[in-house]
Amino acid sequence: MITMTDVGKVYKSGEVETHALRHVSVTIEEGEFVVILGPSGSGKSTLLNVISGLDSVSSGTIYFRDKELTRLSTDQMTVFRREHLGFIFQQYNLLQNLTAYENVQIGADIGSAPLDVDELLGKVGLREARDKYPHQLSGGEQLRVSVARSLAKNPDIIFCDEPTGSLDEANSKKVLRLLQELNEDYKKTVVVITHNTGISEMADKVIKMNSGEITDLRHNAVKKDAQDIRWG
Ligand code: ATP
Ligand code: MG
Repeated sequence: MITMTDVGKVYKSGEVETHALRHVSVTIEEGEFVVILGPSGSGKSTLLNVISGLDSVSSGTIYFRDKELTRLSTDQMTVFRREHLGFIFQQYNLLQNLTAYENVQIGADIGSAPLDVDELLGKVGLREARDKYPHQLSGGEQLRVSVARSLAKNPDIIFCDEPTGSLDEANSKKVLRLLQELNEDYKKTVVVITHNTGISEMADKVIKMNSGEITDLRHNAVKKDAQDIRWG
């Protein structure tokens, strides 16, 4: 689904050059659950940013199916991102004057074949909270609204950069369970970036990064359920 070949990314500020990605070649298959692990500064977010066109590559190519993303203009990339990619970030960015339902509806309005908003709210355990405003929801509930909003447009691939960063273990596992259901029930490709090695037990494919390079890539023969992963 995504094929990166010899991708490099150099950030220049004044005299200083940072090689955030070096010779990264990797594929992400349709329907895969991929976890990207690595210490702070290893290039995980940069990898996500170049795939999603938020940042350009310095060298190499990236394909999505048969489309070469590294050839698209900024405008074409914006359209591509809107149509195909979903993101779950730590900042919920919910609109405070809209209900949970209305926040998710915003996501659905972007898509050409959106998912049903009430069904999604049920999936994330917020059926009762449908008409509540963000300030009436807990942090974990707000995150779940933002997850539902990201998914509502029905993206082909979902990226999560530290989706559980500010959550406790119980709420984190709820979010991870949701990603697992999306992967298994909706057959979505899911890419999770994290420091948490436990989360890699849920993955089909685990990519380890260090200093901008892929240092290890393995496939799991057996995947664990979100509830059963080791935490830490
Ligand atoms: P973390 O786990 O802390 O989020 P990360 O693995 O996501 O780390 P990146 O954010 O990809 O790491 O950063 C990789 C390297 O590139 C780091 O050395 C970082 O300082 C540098 N970097 C990232 N973004 C920029 C930028 N916009 N300008 C200059 N350097 C950058
Ligand atoms: Mg990061």
